[in-house]
Amino acid sequence: MNQKAHLTAGLILATAAMLAGVPPLTASLIVFGGLFCDLDIVDIPVSSQGLHRRLLHNVFVVGAIGVVSFRIPFLVYWVMGMCLHIVMDMFSSSPVYVLWPIPHNGGQIGVGGWGVPNSSVFSFPLGVMLAIMFSAGYLAVTDHFWEVVDLGKRLLEYIFSQD
Ligand SMILES: [Zn+2]
Repeated sequence: MNQKAHLTAGLILATAAMLAGVPPLTASLIVFGGLFCDLDIVDIPVSSQGLHRRLLHNVFVVGAIGVVSFRIPFLVYWVMGMCLHIVMDMFSSSPVYVLWPIPHNGGQIGVGGWGVPNSSVFSFPLGVMLAIMFSAGYLAVTDHFWEVVDLGKRLLEYIFSQD
């Protein structure tokens, strides 16, 4: 997906994290982690297939940063941003090479490519929907889901009670 979708999705998930009590600066790491993945778009002649959706879109990089987060806990938000990015990319029209650089039949195993092309008008709304689902999952896991639903209900009541 494009950077606009990744940025918006990161902001949605960061908002969910802030609603769950994560400090804003820490929650912002979700946005930066999500944007970080696509730095592999640089064209280095290391691999004949290029490095995009490989070098910074694989489970090893995500796992390594995840392991470091045991020592530096706030990095878990960076990892969350990367995971959201990678899942969003899977719902575009081309796959993500999550097991790169492990070879398979002269290439690598691509996962995803189930969704819509980046150029489609549905790409951005799909990204937003995935971010909302991710955020709902995060809020459920951290036990803040109903609290945030209640906050949303009260906000709507307040807006519609104004004459
Ligand atoms: Zn990407």
